[in-house]
Amino acid sequence: MDIDSCPVTILGVHTTDAFRKQVESLSGEKVMQCYQCGECTAGCPMAFAMDIMPNRVMRMVQLGLAKPILESSSIWLCAGCETCATRCPRLVALSKVMDTLRQIAISEGKPSEKNIAAFHEIFIGAIAQHGRVHEVGMLGRYKMVTRDIFSDMGLGLKMFLKGKLKLMPDKIKGAQEVREIIRKSREEAK
Ligand code: SF4
Ligand code: SF4
Repeated sequence: MDIDSCPVTILGVHTTDAFRKQVESLSGEKVMQCYQCGECTAGCPMAFAMDIMPNRVMRMVQLGLAKPILESSSIWLCAGCETCATRCPRLVALSKVMDTLRQIAISEGKPSEKNIAAFHEIFIGAIAQHGRVHEVGMLGRYKMVTRDIFSDMGLGLKMFLKGKLKLMPDKIKGAQEVREIIRKSREEAK
């Protein structure tokens, strides 16, 4: 999709109906059902830190305003908690739309947050390896890849001393099944 080739603009931003269709097709959600009640934003635990509120993300998808959404921090700050999906009176799962927007941003090389693509890959890789996140292993790998060794060191030490971080990963049932799910999703995304 070539966003900048679209002739229609809203407030100077290129729009494309193909973008809305792409989001609907990948997420399986009917974004035009959203009537902007704001219930998703009211319940979102991450809205305070987002640059575009969740209901506005939905409105911008409806309008095909791809560029500002794909470059926003909101899609990366979404925690995937699904509160928005459970509150939506129109039964639209904004959480799935957020997932899709991250997927498109990565495939178009647009992540705005520094090192977010590396974090995303390492996070999924950690789950594929252990069946769940092992924080110490994941953060160690992230620090090596980004060569950002010393930031957050104090916070990490505090968490370790409080017993919040385990040196060795927990063994969980179903790790092989989780690995298989991730393998199949990666294959489908190709
Ligand atoms: S709760 Fe649903 S209908 Fe309301 S703004 Fe959010 S997505 Fe739209
Ligand atoms: S899934 Fe994302 S957008 Fe929805 S309420 Fe949770 S953090 Fe907010």
